[in-house]
Amino acid sequence: MADAVSAPQADVLAIAAHRDDVEQTCGGTLLRMAGRGLRTAILDLTRGEAGTRGTAEERAKEAAEAAKILGVGWRDALDLPDGNVENTYDNRLKIAHVIRLLRPRVVILPYGQARHPDHAIVAELGYQACFLSGLAKVQTGTEPHRPFKIVYASLYADVRPSFIVDITPFIELRHTALMAYRSQYGNQSAGGGLFVPEEEIRERTFAEARHYGLLAGVQYGEPFVQKEVGLVDDLTLIPVQSI
Ligand SMILES: [Zn+2]
Repeated sequence: MADAVSAPQADVLAIAAHRDDVEQTCGGTLLRMAGRGLRTAILDLTRGEAGTRGTAEERAKEAAEAAKILGVGWRDALDLPDGNVENTYDNRLKIAHVIRLLRPRVVILPYGQARHPDHAIVAELGYQACFLSGLAKVQTGTEPHRPFKIVYASLYADVRPSFIVDITPFIELRHTALMAYRSQYGNQSAGGGLFVPEEEIRERTFAEARHYGLLAGVQYGEPFVQKEVGLVDDLTLIPVQSI
C-alpha cells in the first residue's frame, strides 16, 4: 500500500496564470471529471494584484467560491507577479513542489499560442515544471512525481483541437463558477471600456462552447490539444463520433 507521502491527492490538476482562467477554459471539464468521481485541483500561479478590477484579496475569496462550485478538492495560488510571469528555474521549482504534493495523473495547461503573454509562458513553464518534478535528484522536500499526461486547454487559440470534452450537462454550473468573480465580471465603472458587459459574457462563452461542441457532435464542448500521437489497440473502440 502506498504511504501518505506518495499517495496521489488529485487525479487531474489544472494550472493557469490567473484566477478565473480555468473557469473559462476548462471549468466544464473539471466538473465532468469530478462527476466521474475523479479528484480535481487547481493551481493559479498569480494572485491578480495587477488587474484593472478587484484586489488580490477579493479574487482569493472569489476563487475559493468558484472552486466549491466546480467541485474542486484543492485550490491554491502561488505568488508569481501578475502580468510578469517568467519561466525561471525558481518558478519551475515552485510548481514542481505542488505537482509532487498533489501527484496528479493528468495536468491541464493553457495552450502556448495566446494573446496574453502570461498564458503563453505558463504553457512552457508548466510543461518544464512537470518534467522537473519527475527528476529524482531535484530536491523540493517532496517525492519525485511525473504526471502521466499533459493536455492543453486551447479555447482561445486559433488551433484545431485534438479532442473535445462534452460539457453539455455542466455548462450552467460552469457559468455560475465564472460569475463568482463578481469583482471582474459584475457591471461597474472601473474598466468599463475594457471589459465585456455582464449580460454579454453568457452569450459569448456559451457560443464558444457551442462551436466546439458542434465539432464533436455534442451541444457544448471544451477543446484540448495533446502533443503526443495516440496509440490505438482496437479500431472499433476509438472514441470518436460517427462520420
Ligand atoms: Zn488569464
